[in-house]
Amino acid sequence: MSSAKALTHWRAPGRVNLIGDHTDYAQGLALPLAIDRDCSITVVPRPAGAKGSIRAVSKEFAGEVTITTSTRATTSGGEGWGRFVIAAAELVQSLNSHPVNEAIDITVSSTVPAGSGLSSSSALSVALVGALAEYSSLPLSKSELAKAAHQVEERATGVPSGLMDQLASVNGEVDHALLIDFAAELVTPVKWPNDLAIIVINSGMLRALKDSEYAQRREEVENAARQLGLDSLRLATKKQVADNPWARHVVSENERVLAFVSALQSGSYDDLGLIMGKSHASLRDDFLVSTPELNELVANLIAVGAIGARLTGAGFGGCVVALAKPDRADEIAQEALARYRQGASPAIGASAHAFRVRAVAGAGPVGERDNSSGLQ
Ligand code: ADP
Ligand code: MG
Repeated sequence: MSSAKALTHWRAPGRVNLIGDHTDYAQGLALPLAIDRDCSITVVPRPAGAKGSIRAVSKEFAGEVTITTSTRATTSGGEGWGRFVIAAAELVQSLNSHPVNEAIDITVSSTVPAGSGLSSSSALSVALVGALAEYSSLPLSKSELAKAAHQVEERATGVPSGLMDQLASVNGEVDHALLIDFAAELVTPVKWPNDLAIIVINSGMLRALKDSEYAQRREEVENAARQLGLDSLRLATKKQVADNPWARHVVSENERVLAFVSALQSGSYDDLGLIMGKSHASLRDDFLVSTPELNELVANLIAVGAIGARLTGAGFGGCVVALAKPDRADEIAQEALARYRQGASPAIGASAHAFRVRAVAGAGPVGERDNSSGLQ
């Protein structure tokens, strides 16, 4: 990296997905939004003469990572979150064809809860790639940044995830959800109405260690497409997949994304709720990625007056998302959470929490050239 910058500072938001889960790797549709919780990365050069290595610390995660990228040697913390730093440094180096031989300090700090399905991992990957690319004067378009961050995440975790999280983090827009068409690689902002509040409740059950089940779901979906002689399930009809629950989920979920956007645009909020309910049922009964805790939170939210609720993200734990009228949203969230805590173990009850989110701008540099204008 060849720069004398005093400080490079990037932020990248997490995301919540309103509808369209387990569709991204099937060339389908989804409607996430970038949320007002983000990962912040600073890159600072160490004084001249310091040994050439990258050092990284995280405010939330223990361990210091020290990487000499030319030899790929890691002196500590190379497992776990350090793998994201190594993968990002190597990827930026490979795109830039410059050896990373400068001594830099990286600091990570994040307000995205880790392991909850709000994509703290993609916020971290996008912010790391964005900051390291800027530091080494490597221009990246939004699409290149999202794909580079996706590669970093795949290398760091080995999970064959889709591109939704990185695209949402990069393309976020204030007060807009993002309709993503993964086949066309098209992101269309959809205005979010100001009379509809978005609630997230974290079940307190980490979704970590379910990576093998995620890979298995993806394999089922890809097998189903192959059996139909298709590249992906995007062009499959409901009739073609009627007997295959994995494929049935994907095909019906794509339809629900479009129906949700229509209902949003016509102000049919009752329909939004019905569509979210069907999505949750499909993830629970056909795709088998829900948990008793997520089911209970969804039921509680509806019982206390939410317009709609469903699990969000890959499932297997993590968060639910719900919609409510803004003047009742806090009360609904707290009441649903209180009921959930009554039946939960003290440990789960203590880590469960509810909060409201809003749609914010996508990833970018922080400071003079403030974020949303930083990328094409
Ligand atoms: P999610 O993306 O849903 O939050 P993941 O299991 O995909 O859950 O990603 C969580 C992982 O991302 C953590 O185990 C850690 O490796 C990394 N990570 C997230 N936030 C931070 C952070 N603030 N500092 C360091 N690593 C982080
Ligand atoms: Mg993740």
